[in-house]
Amino acid sequence: MFEKKETRPEPAKQRLTSLAELGEFGLIERLTREVKRFHPETLKGVGDDAAVIDMGEKVLLVSTDLLIEGIHFDLTYMPLMHLGYKAVVVNVSDIAAMNGIPAQVTVSIALSSRFSAEAIDEIYAGIRLACDKYKVDLVGGDTSTSTTGLMLSLTILGTVNKGDEVYRSGAQEGDLLCVTGDLGSAYMGLLLLEREKSVFKANPAMQPELSGFDYQIGRQLRPEARTDIRNMMVGTGLKPTAMIDISDGLSSDLLHICKQSNLGCNLFEAKIPIDEQTRELALEFNIIPVVAALSGGEDYELLFTISQKDYDKVKDISGISIIGHMTAASQGKNMITPDGHVVPLTAQGWDGMKPER
Ligand code: ADP
Ligand code: MG
Repeated sequence: MFEKKETRPEPAKQRLTSLAELGEFGLIERLTREVKRFHPETLKGVGDDAAVIDMGEKVLLVSTDLLIEGIHFDLTYMPLMHLGYKAVVVNVSDIAAMNGIPAQVTVSIALSSRFSAEAIDEIYAGIRLACDKYKVDLVGGDTSTSTTGLMLSLTILGTVNKGDEVYRSGAQEGDLLCVTGDLGSAYMGLLLLEREKSVFKANPAMQPELSGFDYQIGRQLRPEARTDIRNMMVGTGLKPTAMIDISDGLSSDLLHICKQSNLGCNLFEAKIPIDEQTRELALEFNIIPVVAALSGGEDYELLFTISQKDYDKVKDISGISIIGHMTAASQGKNMITPDGHVVPLTAQGWDGMKPER
């Protein structure tokens, strides 16, 4: 008899994938790739500003957002009331991006013992203020303790007549690319607040130098959602072919429309709306102003495409800029500089998984 030698294969060293190499969107894709769908009413799952559920004559829109202390907000300069307000606004914005009407919201909150009841009252005062402004009903939530910081997660429901919802995927070749308001100011507001925070840390006797920049600070701390755009467009019989809200920065969010619509784009740098004072402020910070608009994020403006035949309907609406057009995917995703150079667009928006953050 000879001994049977067991040759157990060496377990192959499994190479683990870091979140940094996947990025936020790569991770979401990986997590949701094999998700099954059981209900035909689920018209749209992952991949847009809100999920879309068939309710008969209407569709139900569902979106959720998570805000974490130290990642999404810093309580050294974010007043609690503003935090509550902003938490509602960023959710309302996702419903606006679907051409929907916001209706109900749930609020889940995790708190550490360092917060008093009065502090939480402040957050809820902000939440109620935003609910009043956008006519949203607070219908529930969840409350928990947290061993670290404050966390807020809101889920919003909205509705719209079936067929009136607007997806990121509906753009057509030749469509005009439009954006509401101006871009980059929220980011410059954040940089101002961060700068003053570091000055204060170095010398607590220093007074913050924020006066004169109310617009930028306001855009960062107390943004608004563009629910007004829907009414304006309904009034002129205009319906975008595709839409997204600008939460991550123009380039990242435009690339979502391109990807989902399977198109390319020509974005004209000179047409990107930037507030004059924001432009000056960016230069003072040694930032090219258009970079603040492309990569800054948190402006919560709407980026949308319309058919060329609707040009007359959109051209006179104040506060809407036509910044480019959609092309065939083979043409690439490009920005045209004022001197005619063609620069490929890359996503450098807020990506929490990027190692350099
Ligand atoms: P937005 O910027 O509009 O809030 P996100 O970029 O956060 O959208 O999310 C993109 C899509 O991925 C959305 O449809 C969202 O519901 C979905 N999503 C994000 N995180 C997850 C997750 N952990 N599991 C499933 N779906 C997710
Ligand atoms: Mg969105």
